[in-house]
This record gives sequence, C-alpha cells and structure tokens, in this order.
Amino acid sequence: MGMRTIVESIPAYLTTLVELLRNRLHDAQFIARHRVRPEDFTRERQLTFPIVILFVLQKTIKSIHRHLHEFLDELAMGQLFEPVTAGAWTHARAKLKHTAFIELNQQVVLPIVNQQGDQLQRWHGHRLFGHDSSLIRLPDSPELAQEFGRVEIKNHKGATGTAYPEGRMSIVYDLLNRIGVDARLESSRVGEVSLAIEQSVHLSCGDVAINDRGYIPVDEHYRTAVPHIYAAGDVIGFPALASTSMEQGRVAVCHAFGLKYKERVASLLPMGIYTIPEISSAGETEESCKEKKIDYVVGRALYENNARGHITGDTAGMLKLIFARADKKLLGVSIIGENATELIHVGMMVLDNGLTIDEFIEQVFNYPTLSETYKYAAYDGLGNLAGHKLREG
Ligand SMILES: Cc1cc2nc3c(=O)[nH]c(=O)nc-3n(C[C@H](O)[C@H](O)[C@H](O)COP(=O)(O)OP(=O)(O)OC[C@H]3O[C@@H](n4cnc5c(N)ncnc54)[C@H](O)[C@@H]3O)c2cc1C
Repeated sequence: MGMRTIVESIPAYLTTLVELLRNRLHDAQFIARHRVRPEDFTRERQLTFPIVILFVLQKTIKSIHRHLHEFLDELAMGQLFEPVTAGAWTHARAKLKHTAFIELNQQVVLPIVNQQGDQLQRWHGHRLFGHDSSLIRLPDSPELAQEFGRVEIKNHKGATGTAYPEGRMSIVYDLLNRIGVDARLESSRVGEVSLAIEQSVHLSCGDVAINDRGYIPVDEHYRTAVPHIYAAGDVIGFPALASTSMEQGRVAVCHAFGLKYKERVASLLPMGIYTIPEISSAGETEESCKEKKIDYVVGRALYENNARGHITGDTAGMLKLIFARADKKLLGVSIIGENATELIHVGMMVLDNGLTIDEFIEQVFNYPTLSETYKYAAYDGLGNLAGHKLREG
C-alpha cells in the first residue's frame, strides 16, 4: 500500500494504530531502550531513529538503496531529501537493537489488534493460531557460536569434525489476520515443545492452535490453550506411545479434579520394540554417552550363560548396563532378547532412583530367571571397571 492511500478508506483502528506507533517511535525512553549505545541517534542526521525503524519495517523487495530513496521521498511528501549513501544506512542500522520491533509488536500493535473483536477474521468463531518451530543454521561467527553453541555435522560414519552455530526459531502466528504474535530465536538445544508451551501464554480461552505437525500444544498439566480442555496421547506428539499416553491421561485427570497423587509423567521413558527377539531400552546408550562426552563403562550378560535362558531355549539375547566410571551410577540399560520389554522395568527403577550397579550385586534374584542377567552384567561391569575379568558376559 502506498503512503498516500486515501485516508478515509482506512479503518479507524488502523489510524489509531499508526498514531500510537508514531508516538512510540518518537518517545525518548523508547529510543533510549533500543539503541545500541547511549550516544547513538543523538546527533542531527537524516537517518533518524524513527526513519531507520520505518524503513526496516518495509519489505525491501528492490535494492536497499533504491528502495531507501523512494521511501524517504514518500516520507518527505514532496520536499527533497538529500541522497543517503549506502555507508550512512549501514551505520544507522547498526545503532538499532532488534528489541525495538519486539516492543512495538507486543505493546502497540497487538493490544490494538486484539481490541478489534468484530473485525478480526475467525475460523468457526475461533481465532486460529499457527505455531512453527524450525532449526536454522546460522553464519559461522564466534559471537553466534558463543550465544547459540555449535552442533557437529554427522554422516553415516558419525561426527565429521565440522561444527556450526545452530538456532531454533519458534513463531506463533495469527493465521487469518496475518499477525506475528511471538517470535523467538533460541539455542537449538532448547526443545520445541518447551518453547511452544512458553509461547502459549499468548493464546486465550477459545483460541485454536495448530502446529506444523498437526499436534495440539499443552502445558505440563496437559491443558490446552483453553484451560478447561485437556489433551493427552498421540494428539500432543512425541513420544506417541500407549504407555505414555495413558500416563499423560492420568496426570490430566488428576489435575482436572484437583487430585494430588499423580502430578507428572516420569521423565525417563522406556522404549519397547515387539520384534523377535524383543528390544527394549531406557536411559543413555553408548552412542548418547559418547555424544555427551560422559565417561562410561559397560557391563554385559548373555542369555546363553543364564540358566533360565537354557531351560526355555532362549539363548540368543543380551542385557547391557551402562554406568558412570566415576561413581558406578547406572546411566542406561539396553536389552535384546526374550522378555526384554518386561525385564527393562527392573533397570528403570534403579535408574529413576539414581542408584549404582551395586544395587544389582546386593539384591538376591530368583533362580532361575532372566532377571539374573542384571546381576551378571553388573559383575561384568565391575570387571571392566577394574580392567580384568574371567569371561565375557
Ligand atoms: C501399528 C502400531 C503399533 C504400536 N505399537 C505400540 C506399542 O507396542 N507400544 C506402545 O506403547 N504404543 C504403540 N503404538 C502407539 C499407540 O498405539 C498410541 O500411542 C496410542 O494408542 C495413543 O493413544 P490415544 O488414546 O492418544 O489415541 P488412539 O488410541 O488413536 O485413540 C483415539 C480414539 O479416538 C477415536 N476418534 C478419532 N476421531 C474421533 C472423533 N472425531 N470422534 C470420536 N472419536 C474419535 C479413534 O477412533 C480412537 O479410538 C503403536 C501404534 C501403531 C499404529
């Protein structure tokens, strides 16, 4: 829309919005908050603080310089501006903090837009919000690496030794009214779900939120943006398992009815794969320990050395314990073999309670059982820790 569009055709709330924006852009405290140094924008220059902001808000579809001159011409309403050099623009832009745009959006644009109840576009009577989170590879600079950390590029052989800064962009957008409600750029280590939950404060009762995978965002009590409506299970995304879905449902029901006996889903989730043979794991794996640079030791026990394995003919299986070299604290359990998805729960209790592999040494296990493999894996681990052992598994 050109700057000289006939004013009468603009809705009243938009002219109010322009007025408020204009006031904010000239407000001395606003300028002081969003300039890089106190001395920036204090001397008389053609590219003042409001002009730099207004120009950045325009879409620069042409070359910046040509666009800048057209823009200044429009602002001058017929008076002539001195041409601005590319250097002057770069210099002026560098004095401006990005926080100015966040404040304008949050404190000026959104309150005015949100007051326009009848004039806002709705879907079946509800405001429709889109939430999207993406990982973005950032330019390789020391400052960005310090702010966001680096991630290592991997191929099928593992880490390649090349790392780059990576950020996570997370946006909440009013889809029908085309308004960016909240945008955050965080380290890629910040999880997309926790960010989505934080950003759901911008939604109100009755709003509908969708994300790029079609999941419904919920808070830690499994409440949707409409606080008296809860969601659990596959509709809220990862891990989308029957086991976790039921737990989420229980936490949601307890919260809805003010019951206190179950307030969270355990952070440690077991994985179960019902193949032949079964596979199950919980906690860290050797790969994740290497990635996190955790100094670990492994203890293994083979089903072929276990009495129950021989009795039932299930001799092709293995249980692996992963524990910290420093204090023998159990970090993870992986099992492949008959009943793996049952056996994993013993290890999970030890993991969840932060105990060491000595727990398996101390406890008496029924004989003959596959559970005994925990004890023998722990003995194997002690041998590996000491650097000598009698036999494998
Ligand atoms: C092949 C397969 C194997 C799996 N194996 C495992 C496993 O071994 N272990 C494990 O933990 N998880 C497993 N899962 C995942 C597990 O099934 C799901 O995580 C779990 O069922 C999710 O429960 P839910 O209640 O969220 O959804 P669902 O179980 O899908 O229940 C949703 C219900 O809503 C009904 N419904 C849908 N739309 C409407 C509507 N408009 N009105 C009324 N009703 C509606 C559906 O008919 C359905 O009954 C497996 C999934 C698949 C597909």
